[in-house]
Amino acid sequence: MAFTEDPYLATSAYSLGRLHSVETMGTVDGPGIRFVAFTQGCPMRCAYCHNPDTWDVNAGEPVSVEYLVEQFESNRSFYKTGGVTVSGGEPLLQPEFLADFFQAMHEQPRGRVHTCLDSCGYAFDPSHPERFDALLRETDLVLLDIKHSDPEGHRRLTGRSFERILAFGDELARRGIKVIIRHVVVPGITDTVEECEELGRLIGPWRNVVGLELLPYHTMGVAKYEQLGLAYRLADVPPMDKERIPELRRAVLRGMKRARG
Ligand code: SF4
Repeated sequence: MAFTEDPYLATSAYSLGRLHSVETMGTVDGPGIRFVAFTQGCPMRCAYCHNPDTWDVNAGEPVSVEYLVEQFESNRSFYKTGGVTVSGGEPLLQPEFLADFFQAMHEQPRGRVHTCLDSCGYAFDPSHPERFDALLRETDLVLLDIKHSDPEGHRRLTGRSFERILAFGDELARRGIKVIIRHVVVPGITDTVEECEELGRLIGPWRNVVGLELLPYHTMGVAKYEQLGLAYRLADVPPMDKERIPELRRAVLRGMKRARG
């Protein structure tokens, strides 16, 4: 899709966003069939990231809210059971634009559209939560990625600490926004019962958690690293054995139960 053909750029009534791409028939980022917008820019550097081409905040293309709304509305009949999702990259780098987009989707004359934010939470600033207020007021569901439940493990895996991510989870709990927790299970890194129980302990206090997705690590993103001339840090790690997922899911649920006493 050529965002540069966006006819509304010069006249948009809203803030503009910077996008990497869109997916018109998304089936894995929230309930039903969804229109998914992938934002450009991410401060994390997850070793298994499938989209390293979204990292650079200066890449991507400017796009208007009106253009995205038009893209959605032209295929509205497909999204009856779904809605819109904004993923990334890290969407929280652009809270003003996303607040405008989600508000527009909620106020569509042809009917309110369900909004979902797929985020790692790292760009949330707990010292300025008001910057995210408008966006969170218009967010129906958050897919919150927690990459690792151990502070050091998190830093090794993503290059960043996880305090802001936990602060974002706390903020969502305070507001009662529905959250589905996502956790990529990587052999030798996040595939132990202890790590998963600890994840449960971290998220246990959040009563707004309505779902848990443990995603087995796969190696489908490796080709992009070669194309971009980037080193792939998990080159020696095999795909995750899916048969272990139920056991690890039980470990997370156990940790949650303990945290709730
Ligand atoms: S948070 Fe998402 S987009 Fe950012 S590096 Fe990690 S996997 Fe990639």
